[in-house]
Amino acid sequence: MIKVSAGTASVLGLKKIKMDVSPTTAHLLHGEKCANNCKFCPQARESHSDLELLSRIVWPSYEINKVIESLKEAFDKEELKRACIQATNGKGAFEKSKELLEMISKQTRMPLSVASNINSVEKVKALIEAGAQKVCIAMDAATDKIHCDIKGNNYDQKKKLLKMCAELFPGKISTHFIVGMGESEEAVIKEIDTMYQWGVTVGLFAFTPIKGTEMENVNPPQIGQYRRVQIANYLLKRQYATKENMIFNEGRLIEITLEKEQLLKILKNGTAFETAGCPGCNRPYYNEKPGGVMYNYPRALNNEEVNQAIEEAALLIDL
Ligand code: SF4
Repeated sequence: MIKVSAGTASVLGLKKIKMDVSPTTAHLLHGEKCANNCKFCPQARESHSDLELLSRIVWPSYEINKVIESLKEAFDKEELKRACIQATNGKGAFEKSKELLEMISKQTRMPLSVASNINSVEKVKALIEAGAQKVCIAMDAATDKIHCDIKGNNYDQKKKLLKMCAELFPGKISTHFIVGMGESEEAVIKEIDTMYQWGVTVGLFAFTPIKGTEMENVNPPQIGQYRRVQIANYLLKRQYATKENMIFNEGRLIEITLEKEQLLKILKNGTAFETAGCPGCNRPYYNEKPGGVMYNYPRALNNEEVNQAIEEAALLIDL
């Protein structure tokens, strides 16, 4: 059996749910209670959350072969662009991720990402050989201190591994940052810039408090803070600007030294505010409640939404 996100189950025709936006990446999850103890995660060793949850998503289980067959069909019909295998850190998790990658890549050419507990170059190599197009080594936190407090393991070691893997497997390595866990905008933007310098793909998440986790009472980030990080991420990713173009005051991004008209033109298509990560990954409602604050838009924005997002960033850009 394998867990799939409720939205994925719906695209695969395994479950009927009402969705205003469908996921374009299928999300699969294996493993039970995690051996790690990340304070934000409902699957963490000491969390009391519903084990059906990862972030704010519910994950029903289905028979593996049925899921793979449906993945193939959905990819052939262009309903899905990618599949992402996520794993909790438990006994046999790495082998299981490898096995799943092999099973899926035998049946379909759809691009595959894997976000598993990975701590060596050899494991990354093995996952790529098994069929992964992107291997995610998630930083999650943007500073050593926050990483130690929240995830409890070594930040520098993980960064070293990311750098090494990005050199050895160009274009195949990705990471995640969760915005709003106490870091400054400057700290996370600096780390994002480093990742792009190394050729690592960056996925952005907004911190989401989940009941039963140690961080259940921590507030999600202010929307302005998230918008500024999204804008910086987009400008760095597309090389419209460097971090030298970004001016900070007490850790907050206050200005981008591009011509205002040029900056507005870049931001007007709204892409900066769409979900960032592996190509084709839109993760609808991973961080957002329907009708709530849209941290990551899982679809193209309309004009009104773009203008609102630019205003929320409060970077003194005249519309
Ligand atoms: S960005 Fe999306 S597809 Fe890539 S590893 Fe993260 S969740 Fe998976």
